[in-house]
Amino acid sequence: MSDTKDSPKLDFIREIIAEDLSSGKHSTTITRFPPEPNGYLHIGHAKSICLNFGLALEHADVGAKCHLRFDDTNPEKEETEYVESIKEDVKWLGFDWGKDLYFASNYFDFFHDCAVHLIQQGKAYIDRDSAEEMRAKRGNITTPGTPSAGRELTVEENLDLFARMKAGEFKEGECVLRARIDLASSNMNMRDPVLYRIMHVDHHNTGDAWCIYPMYDFAHPLEDALEHITHSLCTLEFENHRPLYDWFIENCPVPSKPRQIEFARLNLTYTVMSKRKLLQLVQEGHVGAWDDPRLPTISGLRRRGYPAPAIRDFCKRIGLTKFNGTTDVALLEFEVRDFLNRESPRRMAVLDPVKVVMENWDAEALTAAEVSNHPQNPDMGERSVPISREVWIEREDFMENPPKKFYRLGPGRHVRLRGGHIIRCTSFEKDSDGNVTLIRAEILPGTVGMDAPEGVECRAAIHWVDVASGVDAEVRLYDRLFTVEDPDGAEGGFTSVLNPDSLKIITAKIEPAAASAEAGFACQFERVGYFVADSKDHQPAAKPVFNRCVALKDSWGKQAGR
Ligand code: ATP
Ligand code: MG
Repeated sequence: MSDTKDSPKLDFIREIIAEDLSSGKHSTTITRFPPEPNGYLHIGHAKSICLNFGLALEHADVGAKCHLRFDDTNPEKEETEYVESIKEDVKWLGFDWGKDLYFASNYFDFFHDCAVHLIQQGKAYIDRDSAEEMRAKRGNITTPGTPSAGRELTVEENLDLFARMKAGEFKEGECVLRARIDLASSNMNMRDPVLYRIMHVDHHNTGDAWCIYPMYDFAHPLEDALEHITHSLCTLEFENHRPLYDWFIENCPVPSKPRQIEFARLNLTYTVMSKRKLLQLVQEGHVGAWDDPRLPTISGLRRRGYPAPAIRDFCKRIGLTKFNGTTDVALLEFEVRDFLNRESPRRMAVLDPVKVVMENWDAEALTAAEVSNHPQNPDMGERSVPISREVWIEREDFMENPPKKFYRLGPGRHVRLRGGHIIRCTSFEKDSDGNVTLIRAEILPGTVGMDAPEGVECRAAIHWVDVASGVDAEVRLYDRLFTVEDPDGAEGGFTSVLNPDSLKIITAKIEPAAASAEAGFACQFERVGYFVADSKDHQPAAKPVFNRCVALKDSWGKQAGR
């Protein structure tokens, strides 16, 4: 994969790994990306994907790898639809797990064996207290926990009860398996955490084979160890769980000793990120689906037209820290704009059209204008755009009484049609509301590709679409989904601060070469913004549908006075 930015000084995780490799502690590094298949991936996950898979690429010379592991230990919320979408998103971001695709549910036997081992060592017991009693006995920071009756059971009694739990003799909630660690620990996670609970629920992979399921804190280190993960990278909320992670590694018969390292999760302004909230937005119909272009999901960003390299550049730019913070979404938009500015061809579209009739057209009767596909990149070549007597131009490119610095069209003024003639406005018509309905103009013969003749002031070129060959397109103008920087902090909840104008649908005039492009085609509509032909609804030529990916300039930043 081509990295467009030089990497600066190593971050703290890369430093640790470089040290482990140079000291010989590890001969290679194996990381993993462990999503729970209970929703679609979002841009926060992209940070973790770029980190974990990125490390494997950076250390490919010593055989480094990154596993894609589905952490599918909770049967209740998981669906195969999510598994497929996650694979697609990781691939689209440009990463490859090779043969290293794993499902935690394939380790259920191993988790069970580890649990039995802990019981045999006197390090786990069955607790028949209700959830409420357990909570009451847990104590708090100043008061140690109170042992339950289960803590006094013998190894044999525990083995027997655990076997009966597994055999389905108990109802949900009747008992759990807990680790016997330290009821007085100042770290509440160490106060005899639950290892297994009963759930009479079928699992998408193992069917009805199990009615006991392991807790995340217990299963995760075992998964890592079983896969010989060297560096298990997770977000800061797990910092307090690390002693527990290490305890399981110390006390279970595992084949390797992974090290957990925490980094700050990505939070973005004007966005919510948790899968639960994204699901709520989808289920309550605030957005169309998981891939709605207003969502921060990978599939939404893809449909919006955000290129994968721009997302990777963004993840690189934000770096890794140990402190939680919030990143300005404008930074992501900057990377997208930067990439598309360099890489995407130009096309012409008029979003708010007004007709110009060039009354002396026959003086030169051009049939097509040669327009360059990229102003800074001649390698992208030129295209012929059909043109005839009538063209659409942008309403805002005409002013009846233009101020001095307005160099576009006005009565008696000149402007160049991009790739075509210089024209002069001779007259115009308005409707009863004062809206301009028609502009009459004359072409200046001999000005295609030539400078303005002596005495003619023409300082600007505007985009246009030929009336005869232009195509009506549905254009979806997306804006931020929320009106405030921190929707999670909104008093009325995040759904109370949805932006009512996050989607505006208009009919625009677009040139034939844009209309006939395939779905997924991304371009700059000159002077308007970056757009992509919608992956679901766009039909080349027949029914063009374009999504606005990002505006040319950051209008929000301007509003906020930045
Ligand atoms: P969410 O809280 O958004 O629902 P999650 O943490 O429950 O996400 P998982 O499927 O468990 O989602 O996450 C898979 C991996 O992605 C984990 O290693 C997790 O630490 C990482 N991850 C999730 N959200 C972020 C984020 N915002 N920034 C960085 N990494 C993240
Ligand atoms: Mg999670």
